[in-house]
Amino acid sequence: MKKIILFSLVVSLISCKAQPPRDISEANPMEYANTITAEELKDHLYIFASDEFEGRETGEPGQKMAAEYLKKEYQSLDIASPLGENDYYQEVPGSYFTRETVKDTENVLAYIQGSSKPEEVLVISSHYDHVGIDDEGNIYNGADDDGSGTVAILEIAEAFKKAQEDGFVPKRSILFLNVTGEEKGLVGSKFYSENPVFPLANTVANLNIDMIGRIGTDMESAGDYVYLIGSDKLSTELHNLSEEVNEKYINLNLDYTYNDENDPNRFYYRSDHYNFAKNDIPIIFYFNGVHEDYHRPTDTPDKIEYDLLEKRAKLIFLTAWEIANRDTRPYVDKPTLTDSGE
Ligand SMILES: [Zn+2]
Repeated sequence: MKKIILFSLVVSLISCKAQPPRDISEANPMEYANTITAEELKDHLYIFASDEFEGRETGEPGQKMAAEYLKKEYQSLDIASPLGENDYYQEVPGSYFTRETVKDTENVLAYIQGSSKPEEVLVISSHYDHVGIDDEGNIYNGADDDGSGTVAILEIAEAFKKAQEDGFVPKRSILFLNVTGEEKGLVGSKFYSENPVFPLANTVANLNIDMIGRIGTDMESAGDYVYLIGSDKLSTELHNLSEEVNEKYINLNLDYTYNDENDPNRFYYRSDHYNFAKNDIPIIFYFNGVHEDYHRPTDTPDKIEYDLLEKRAKLIFLTAWEIANRDTRPYVDKPTLTDSGE
C-alpha cells in the first residue's frame, strides 16, 4: 500500500511538472540552449541517418519511417501538433510533384503556442527527405543533408519545451516544420507556403536549416563558422538581431560569402526558405557549404562534427528565442527578391 501511494505521488509530480507562466524577460535562454548537446544530436542522427531509413526518399518506406520517428519524438516530448491531436502529418499530394511521379507524402509539423502573441508564428524548418538508394543499391544516408538540420530542430524543440515547462512560454508561437520533397524540387515547403497552417501574413520569419553538421570544402581553417544566407535580404532588423545574438552568446564566425547577390551558387533561391522569402517573409538560411560527400553515399553520421553542430544549433535556438520574444516582429524594410533564373 505504501509503495502504491509513493508511486502515485511520483507519477503526479512528474505529470504536474509544468510551472505557471512566468515573465519571459526573467529567463536565461542560455540555460535552455545548453540542453542542446552533441551527445543527443549524435544519438538521434545515428538512427535517423542509418541504413534502416534507406536514404529517406520522398514517398518511399524510408521517408515514412523518418516521418514516424519525428512524430514519435514530438509525442514523447509532449510537443503538440497544430493540425489536431496526434495528427502531425500535413499530406502533400502526388500531384504537387512535377519532375517525376511521387506517391503522396507528408510534412511533419509540431508547435509551441505563444503566450501574448499566439497568432504570430516563427517557422523553424529543415527537410527530412533525401535521395534514397541508387541503381547499384548504395544507400544515401544524408547525415549532413539534411539529417543534421532535422536533429537540430528536434533539440531546439526540446529546449523550447523545457523552457515552457519552467513557465517561460515564448510570446509568439513557434512552428517546427519538417518538410518533405526538398530533393524533388522544394515541394514540401512549396506546399506548406500555399497551404499554410498559420496565415503567411502572421508568419514573422523563417529560420531554415539545411546541412550544418560538417566543415565545407576549403573551410578547414575557418574555425567555428556557419554560412548565413538571406538574413539582410528583407529585414535589416533580422540581420542585426542575428548578429547581436551571436555576439552575446555563441561567437561563431558568421560567413556571408554566399549571401552575395552575385554569388553564382544562388543558394538564397535553392532551399526551402525561398518559399517563405518570395512571400516577403524574412528568412535566415544556415548552411555549412558543400563538401566531398555532398549527395554521395558517403554522407554518413560518423563524419559529422558534433561539437560544431551543437554550437550551430544553439545559435539557431537563441536567434529563434529573440525573434519569438521581441516586442515587435522583424520589420521588413526591403523589397522582395525574385529568382531571375526561375
Ligand atoms: Zn538539403
